[in-house]
Amino acid sequence: MLEQRSSNEFTSYLVNGKKKNTWKYAIFSGLTVGATFAYAENTVISDNKTIVNEVANTLSSGEEVRSTQDETNIYQITSGPVLSVNITTEDVVLKQEIPKEIEYVANSAMYEDETKVVQEGQDGLKEMVVQIEAADGVEISRELLQEYVVVEVKNQIIEYGTKAPIVNTQIAPQTTQTQSTTFAHPLNGVGYISSSYGSRWGSFHNGIDIAAGAGTPIYAAAAGTVTYSGYMGTYGYLVIIDHGNGYETYYAHASALYAKVGQYVTQGQSIAAVGSTGNSTGNHLHFEIRENGQCINPYSYIY
Ligand SMILES: [Zn+2]
Repeated sequence: MLEQRSSNEFTSYLVNGKKKNTWKYAIFSGLTVGATFAYAENTVISDNKTIVNEVANTLSSGEEVRSTQDETNIYQITSGPVLSVNITTEDVVLKQEIPKEIEYVANSAMYEDETKVVQEGQDGLKEMVVQIEAADGVEISRELLQEYVVVEVKNQIIEYGTKAPIVNTQIAPQTTQTQSTTFAHPLNGVGYISSSYGSRWGSFHNGIDIAAGAGTPIYAAAAGTVTYSGYMGTYGYLVIIDHGNGYETYYAHASALYAKVGQYVTQGQSIAAVGSTGNSTGNHLHFEIRENGQCINPYSYIY
């Protein structure tokens, strides 16, 4: 049975059609969009592309081509050379790692600056059966048929202390400060400290991490002018506010930015939303206070 279809309609069928078996199609190249031609659906014209091309070079409009495999199917050439496309489907098994995550658990018996790995954790592994459809060996679609876990993921568990330190060894109280600045909690009390200020795993943590759900509003800790609102390397989406008296505050890993550079914000004004952008393993706010460019421990200012 011969059908009339436009060339772009046929290409669309070729790409979008779901075929569970292997077919060879013949299509006509060099046609403009909207041109019509005749073809017989699902007809094998040849197993060998070279033969098809040779045939194509000798064909002219109006001629008929008989299939080499099935004598009953006939192509009628209306214009252009013939091009064959080999559509194949194949089920393949793919392995994918399930990366472990870090869970932070509060421990009231430990001091605020302490952390302890109580479970190292292990990456998991899953296998997926994927059906890949290809046109002349080039993938055009894939469909997930089945998925199963081979190795269960085991998260890393880190305990952090919540007991207040007896002596604050991080920073001396700011007794000589002439101009006082009061900082409000940047999440308005929401969340918990998942990492405190100071030495951490062989490096120095410039601020505190407050774990909270994605999208939790971040508020300006004090009034000031926004000097940065954008993406900055390991900080991810970052807002910096200059409070005009030597103090700056940093709000990092945001999922959304509301404040604009140059904007004056009041204390408690919403400036961004909690996220996990940049170098971050979970949703949290990395909050820094800088005094004359030097990082200081924000803890005593906001708790
Ligand atoms: Zn941090």
